[in-house]
Amino acid sequence: MGKIYGIDLGTTNSCISVLQEGRPHIIPVDGNGIVPSVVSLDGTNLLVGRKAWNRAAAFPEQTIRSVKRLMGTMEKLTLGGKEYEPEDISAMILRYLCDEAHKIEGREIENVVITVPAYFSDAQRRATMEAGKRAGLAVERIINEPTAAALFYDHVFASYGEPDLKNSSAKGSRPAPSQRTGEEYALVYDLGGGTFDVSVLRMGEIIEVLASTGDTHLGGDDFDKRIVTRILRQIKEKDGLDLEDHVPAVARLNAVAEKAKISLSEKASVRIEETHIPAPKGNCTVSMELSREEFESMTEDFVDRTVASVEKAMEEAQLSAEKIGKVLLVGGMTRMPVIAARLEKIFGSARMPVVDPDLSVANGAAIQGGIISGENCEQILVDVTPHTLSLESISFDFERLECAPIIPRNTQIPVTRARTFGTVSYHQKAAELKVYQGESHFPEDNTLIGETYLELAPAEAHCPIVVEYSYDLNGIVHMVAEQKGYSRKTEVRIDSRNPQLFSSQGLKEIEGDTENEDEEEIEVEVEEGANAINFVTQHARNMLSKMPAGEKKDVLAETLARYERALLDDGDDGNNVDEIEDELLSLMEEEIEVADEDADDNADEE
Ligand code: AMP
Repeated sequence: MGKIYGIDLGTTNSCISVLQEGRPHIIPVDGNGIVPSVVSLDGTNLLVGRKAWNRAAAFPEQTIRSVKRLMGTMEKLTLGGKEYEPEDISAMILRYLCDEAHKIEGREIENVVITVPAYFSDAQRRATMEAGKRAGLAVERIINEPTAAALFYDHVFASYGEPDLKNSSAKGSRPAPSQRTGEEYALVYDLGGGTFDVSVLRMGEIIEVLASTGDTHLGGDDFDKRIVTRILRQIKEKDGLDLEDHVPAVARLNAVAEKAKISLSEKASVRIEETHIPAPKGNCTVSMELSREEFESMTEDFVDRTVASVEKAMEEAQLSAEKIGKVLLVGGMTRMPVIAARLEKIFGSARMPVVDPDLSVANGAAIQGGIISGENCEQILVDVTPHTLSLESISFDFERLECAPIIPRNTQIPVTRARTFGTVSYHQKAAELKVYQGESHFPEDNTLIGETYLELAPAEAHCPIVVEYSYDLNGIVHMVAEQKGYSRKTEVRIDSRNPQLFSSQGLKEIEGDTENEDEEEIEVEVEEGANAINFVTQHARNMLSKMPAGEKKDVLAETLARYERALLDDGDDGNNVDEIEDELLSLMEEEIEVADEDADDNADEE
């Protein structure tokens, strides 16, 4: 395999890096390697990067920015009267990076690792892969941005002792891995143009992501908007003009606001002076002073939100602030002094090394590329699932639908997990299978990422259905559902951007596995609710919570405990999952019958 390049496909800027003699090097596309993720049309000429960015303020209608925010959606973008999908625009950026890097390096670029925010959903990851494909690239791996940053930090740290992370080619003697200072935890705080991510990692011989959280809709653009709102208010007060919906004015002001925000990272105050703000009847002007203090208080809620996520990530990793050895700041927005100041209050300044926030993600991706192609095998990357993946099931009391987790959030990937559910009724014809991602117990609060149904052979109620989810290294989900012992199986390819395409790849029978097969023709009709499937253990737990104390309850609790142990052992240690499951189901059935009889008796008495 040839070189694998690392690409940070950012909301605002993108970067491409490659490993040379074991060290990552940013390829200086557009001068310094920080390439605006902007596409613009100049006549029939398609411009990408810095040249496109230069046109953004003057020709907003012919320019597309922040397309990363739309990845994974069905939204269409128009450029020169032509409609594009977000993947097409991202593909243009990727193609531009690779073409320009080719000109500089003299080497054709075919294989890449692309980074995404850890919080990106399955659809967003898929869309990113698709963009790579449309750019004619082989996407070897999608990795999380904070993970890439930590990988870069760890690489430099392991290679050259005390890190000089501003300069990835830092010289120094390379201690053997065993000479490292030992295991420690790092927190990566990544605030970019459009997204925020925070991850807690264990940094040892293996870099392991312990927790990852964030906000896909919080970034530098939001901070800019607050300044734009302030300017628009001033124009309204001064000239009586409402330019909020005037696209050319807002585009111009976005650029003005971003410039002011960046200046405020260096200066205590800036003068915003603009004489060419496009308005419906000629230009208008703005002149105002903005202090860093004012700007910080205008945007304090955003910073608070990021700090809350930091606390959440530590809680999920079950680590206190004292345990965090290093806090790495990533993303252009972390140049705002208030960010470091807020984090210093929690972690202290000694634990915050200077990392170049713009380049470390691409460099980490290049290191990952090197690891895949066999160039650098020191680190093994362990990544985690950003969301819980669950299956919709019906609650024990039949009153509502619930999400039964199959792969919990922050499980190391790649992972395959299966859970057993049960049918609701005798001779149930089909089971609806709805895959959700999200942390809520309730489907309506989570995101539906795939659905299909499994045609069932006639069977008793509670017939077990094993549903298996696989989450691969790119964070993409595959589902297999099987009616146990009845040779009914379905596999689903999930494309969450288009629910209609969420169909199964065809219901098929497993050859040779025909025990209990009933040859009766099955008509499939999926009725709302009636075909939902139950989560056996969840039902049993619900049942236990409602049972009065006594021998029956003890027996059910003991059987459930044995069943759960058997599921975990997956049939090892002489456990027979099927047998215990049958035992559990018949106990539950008995209990349901008793409850029904009691209910009938009560009704009769009334
Ligand atoms: P990224 O997505 O990591 O490229 O970050 C881009 C974001 O960082 C944009 O919102 C920029 O305006 C912002 N940014 C870049 N440099 C600075 C700076 N010196 N101070 C504040 N924000 C900055």
